Amino acid sequence: MLGNMMFQPLLISSMIEHAGRYHADSLVISKNTDLSITETTWGQIHDNSKRFAQVLQSFGFVLGDRVATIAWNNHRHLESWYAISGSGLVCHTINPRLFPEQLVFIINDAADKVLLFDKTFLPLIKAVKPLLKSVEHYICLDAPDDAVREAIPDVLFYDELIAGHSAQFTWPVIDELSASSLCYTSGTTGNPKGVLYSHRSTVLHSYAISMPDSLNISARDVMMPVVPMFHVNAWGTPYAAAMAGCTLVLPGPGLDGASLVGLIDRYKVSVALGVPTIWQGLINAAQQSGSQLTSLSRNVVGGSACPPAMLKAFKDQFNCETIHAWGMTETSPLGSANQFKAKHMGLSDEEKLQVRLSQGRPPFGVDLRITDEENGTHEVSRDGETTGNLQIKGHWIIKNYFAKENSALTSDGWFDTGDIATLNEDGYLKISDRSKDLIKSGGEWISSVYLENLAMGHPKIAMAAVIAAEHEKWDERPILIAIKKPDVDLNESEIFDFYADKVAKWQIPDKVIFVESIPLSGTGKMLKKDLREQFGKVLLST
Ligand code: AMP
Repeated sequence: MLGNMMFQPLLISSMIEHAGRYHADSLVISKNTDLSITETTWGQIHDNSKRFAQVLQSFGFVLGDRVATIAWNNHRHLESWYAISGSGLVCHTINPRLFPEQLVFIINDAADKVLLFDKTFLPLIKAVKPLLKSVEHYICLDAPDDAVREAIPDVLFYDELIAGHSAQFTWPVIDELSASSLCYTSGTTGNPKGVLYSHRSTVLHSYAISMPDSLNISARDVMMPVVPMFHVNAWGTPYAAAMAGCTLVLPGPGLDGASLVGLIDRYKVSVALGVPTIWQGLINAAQQSGSQLTSLSRNVVGGSACPPAMLKAFKDQFNCETIHAWGMTETSPLGSANQFKAKHMGLSDEEKLQVRLSQGRPPFGVDLRITDEENGTHEVSRDGETTGNLQIKGHWIIKNYFAKENSALTSDGWFDTGDIATLNEDGYLKISDRSKDLIKSGGEWISSVYLENLAMGHPKIAMAAVIAAEHEKWDERPILIAIKKPDVDLNESEIFDFYADKVAKWQIPDKVIFVESIPLSGTGKMLKKDLREQFGKVLLST
């Protein structure tokens, strides 16, 4: 027998509908590409999303067609998100820091029909445009501008397009399992792979991140996602913000510490989210300016491990609780968040710090386990000590990558994250390592294998390994460990020059260490764990 309750599909359009009806006067503050500030409201975001939905409709696309965005966190970008997903199209957010070749690959792979972009990225768009196979319309998310018209003669301007439509529009009712948005991750081997979220997974994830033991988001909050909208949908915050009706502060391109301190103090931001690199810049800038960040009651740190000194600085100097969270593109992203249980409240400050250093525990809706083999199914003990492969399942976890038939899951239906971790009996997660050969620098991935292969192509190098070294500012940076060929002269700067025209500047290793031998396993694989133990701290000052 079925229950007798209404069924309504869980749709992204219902979130903007809710914000427009019940939180119309809540502010959305946005820094533009020219660094001016626009103050708008959820009411206006709602109206403009309906205007842009009609523009998209006029292009005659079919349900599920992809619309790409290359843009900062700003109000037009936010409106376009709701317009795209709300009208049944798929919002494909693209990371502008990708290599142009990768960018072209993913736009063609996704077969994007429209490309929305901020003026900042005009040179990039101009350079890649001749290589894009599917894009029919280029839309600039800035005020009309002759320089943009000159570079891209058939460009359309968002403001001009929406001006021709009214805010009267009824969102289509579609299946809640329909695709809503697409993010590519380079946190995998080979070409970037697409993760295709659904309306249902997005709505459920938004509920989960809003819960008190996650980010605890309410209508009284002023939320600032510093994490870009092209990084796993700014961790889902633009959706949760509409659901809660909180004030939203979108920092645009101003991600430096001083700009962020300015926004926090001016708009009384109560919760902000970003990777450790961002917070380091913020702490330095606040210390320099003497700001106490008085309004900031909590900040969310994820994307890389939060250093203990950072947790302490936020608590001791700024009276700000740091919520350490873990997740990935494949998990929407929230997999765990660190909030205390009742039994922790009586602990000493030092003991509490130890609890807070873990990546936290899963919210209802996802489940975690540790197995003794990559993609294995045998779970190890939840004792806080036994390390193994972290796996996850739940309502907002990937099943298979975009346009790939084969399942991304283990034989019993879990997703293997590639992270090495422990879980304790309460489900607190501690990430200790990564099984994938990737380096995460300031929130961006660098492939160590790619850098190694390039180094192996150098005529004077016999063997090369690239590993992640700890770094105070960027969390991790690549360093190259190399064996020279016999009787050759080779120095570090020759290698830097060698990389210069082959990879983006920020991907070039920070240091080259010449060695006589590199440890190998029985099967001849380089033992990078041993190299990390030996050289992993060479970039630290102490
Ligand atoms: P991405 O898909 O780019 O968001 O990257 C996800 C990966 O970032 C995870 O698989 C982890 O390796 C790493 N990561 C995310 N959050 C944390 C954290 N709090 N501590 C340590 N590593 C993290």
